[in-house]
Amino acid sequence: MAIGYLSQATALRRTAGVLRSSWIVVATFLALLALSVALVASFSNSTRIADELAQSDERVRVAHYLDSAAKRILAAQKLQQTWDDAMRHAVLGDDPVWSRTYLGYFFWGSQRADHVFLVRPDGSLVRGWERGEDAPADRYAGLQPRVARLIARTRGESRDDGDIARWITLEDGKWPVDKRGYPMQRGLYEFSRYQGRPAIMTVAAIIPDSRVDLLRRAPNYVLLVRTMDETLLHELSRAVLLDDMRVSDAPPAADRARNGTPIADPNGQIISWLDWAARRPGEAIIRRTAPLLSAFILFFVGVLLGGVMIVRRHMRTTRELVASEAQAQHNAMHDAMSGLPNRVHYMQRLRQELSACINDQRLGDVFVAYLDIDSFKVVNDTLGHHVGDELVRQVAMRLRRALPSTDFLSRFGGDEFVLMRRSPGGRATADELGTQIMDLMREPFLISGNTLEVTCSCGISWGPEQSEDPGELLRRADIALYRAKQRGRARYRRFTRDMDASLKLRREMEMELRRAIARDELSVAFQPIIGLPDGGIHGFEALLRWYHPDRGEIRPGLFVPVAEQAGLMIPLGNWVLRRVFNECQAWPCDISVNLSPLQIMASDFLVTLRTILAETGMDPRRVVLEVTEGVMLDRSEHVFSVLRELNGMGFRIALDDFGIGYSSLSYLRSFQFDRIKIDRSFVQNVEGDVDAHSILCAIVSLGHTLRMKVVAEGVETDVQRQLVQAAGCELVQGHLFWAALAPQEAFALLTRDAEGGAARRLVG
Ligand code: GH3
Ligand code: MG
Repeated sequence: MAIGYLSQATALRRTAGVLRSSWIVVATFLALLALSVALVASFSNSTRIADELAQSDERVRVAHYLDSAAKRILAAQKLQQTWDDAMRHAVLGDDPVWSRTYLGYFFWGSQRADHVFLVRPDGSLVRGWERGEDAPADRYAGLQPRVARLIARTRGESRDDGDIARWITLEDGKWPVDKRGYPMQRGLYEFSRYQGRPAIMTVAAIIPDSRVDLLRRAPNYVLLVRTMDETLLHELSRAVLLDDMRVSDAPPAADRARNGTPIADPNGQIISWLDWAARRPGEAIIRRTAPLLSAFILFFVGVLLGGVMIVRRHMRTTRELVASEAQAQHNAMHDAMSGLPNRVHYMQRLRQELSACINDQRLGDVFVAYLDIDSFKVVNDTLGHHVGDELVRQVAMRLRRALPSTDFLSRFGGDEFVLMRRSPGGRATADELGTQIMDLMREPFLISGNTLEVTCSCGISWGPEQSEDPGELLRRADIALYRAKQRGRARYRRFTRDMDASLKLRREMEMELRRAIARDELSVAFQPIIGLPDGGIHGFEALLRWYHPDRGEIRPGLFVPVAEQAGLMIPLGNWVLRRVFNECQAWPCDISVNLSPLQIMASDFLVTLRTILAETGMDPRRVVLEVTEGVMLDRSEHVFSVLRELNGMGFRIALDDFGIGYSSLSYLRSFQFDRIKIDRSFVQNVEGDVDAHSILCAIVSLGHTLRMKVVAEGVETDVQRQLVQAAGCELVQGHLFWAALAPQEAFALLTRDAEGGAARRLVG
């Protein structure tokens, strides 16, 4: 039982351990997964931040470039307009040719100022140029107030060109001069809209560069307009290294494909937007690192899948292990054929139940019912082992279904089942249990087309009343079972103390019988069978004898059941046949030999018998084989076929002990016996018992009707002889004539009888 059996606790512990390690593996993989997700997320966030930083840098660069472009224009303008000639031609005088050349055309050519206007200090237009040529007056339409405001603002801006040393007085105001005594420039720039487009506008005064005296009143100003056209955008693009620069009225879409920056006037009012194809370093990073990243992800997914597979396999193995352990545990505790608990399991439960009952008497008793199918071997021998197996299964199923679920039923092997029931009630409960089991077996079993009428025997014991020890309780139920078998089977017996004593005796006897066989202490005696009415010796019945060196003669009635139970009957029976055939092979009379039912049932009986005949040279026609009624009951068809075979070989068959057993007339009709032997109990009662006498007469007349000789056994008195003779018996045996004789004596008697009548003398 211990092999392959693991306790439930061990199995559970092992399962828990495996599950724990599985969870560690799962947790590790989850942590790795989380780490990888975090890495990927932070990587993608970094690339986004890189994009944002790059784009903000682009915006700064674009804004800075626009600013410096405006400053460059203004610086160039200031340089060009700080010139004595300019004062003479464009302020003090009005020289349109000069002005067009050195202002309109010059600024178009050098600064790409598409519109140049010469204005008075109040902002009113003197003249204007468009792309270096004279411009129509309407180009200045609406600009005067803005320009006047600009000029006013330049007064505050002149500090940009250095510190004011002092002021000189003009006819219409003051003008700052530097520490060298030169007039200082005044000018500024702004972003504004011109003719529907954004533009850089710069304004600066015309002042002398050496002749300070030329500056007598507030000078004229020049307004440059550099529209943000394709040229400017192209320049801008090249300078800041950005592509697809455009002007628009709205900010770029938020998809990060384009970047942009607003262009605002001095009041902070957005007048337009510049946008361009955004640089995306993050994307480049992703593109460049993609192969590495993919490899990493693939590797990780591979590791993850591998891990998942390992975990799954691990868990499956665990499940299988647990299942196989459970199976092994189940197998260790159950009988494979019937599925019922086995002996080990039963004994465990019995021990538990008994100790519970011992500790708490209110629980009542534990009843042990030991069941054994009657004549199960016959089913195996005649219908085959598979039918035997099926019968065991069906018996198990029937008992399991019919008995209460609180009863614990188990199979101990072979045709043995043991039941446990806990109940109060002592003997009454034992009887109830026994009756219930007997009733359950009444219904025949249907197996492979055969209807089997099966009985069982049952022994019942109960503890703690009869014993507190589980093993002892079981032994007692077994003894009671044995007694039920002995008493004719198909019944139950409660265990009683006297059973135990007789059983001990039986065990001793079994041991001694084995010893006796080994030491050849057994012998055969021959009792004469006398013919009536003449009293001549008709034959002998061979009887097995056991002479025990200490106990003396032991009766066959005592030791034959022991031999049967111990499985010694078949070898013993064959030994008798061989011995008798050897001894009597030359005797000129019939020899009767008893056959045990077990011998007839043995599958090799006929073969053995033929062998013995061949060995001994015995003529079967001189042999009468005696069988008891019991053998008929067990398995008629098989027995009859053996009997017919024996008949065919030349043997005659006698029916022994007739009248005491089942005495069914049906088998008397089914087989032609040579003779029937009336049991000695009838003969011995025949003197005083009228019924016995009537039965005797009836049996004799029945025998005659069926053409069988009738033998009366146990004739001990002359009155008995007269009565059996009167009833019509042809043959008698008994102490009145001869007891059993040793072979030599028997042979001598036979010789004397042949010479003129030993028996006859006695009869007479
Ligand atoms: P009794 O009335 O005295 O019980 O006689 P029986 O013929 O039933 O014989 P017994 O109970 O002593 O022996 C049972 C037989 O069952 C012995 C063996 O040949 C047979 N046997 C044991 N195990 C199995 C089994 O698993 N299957 C089958 N078919 N037969 C078995
Ligand atoms: Mg049996």
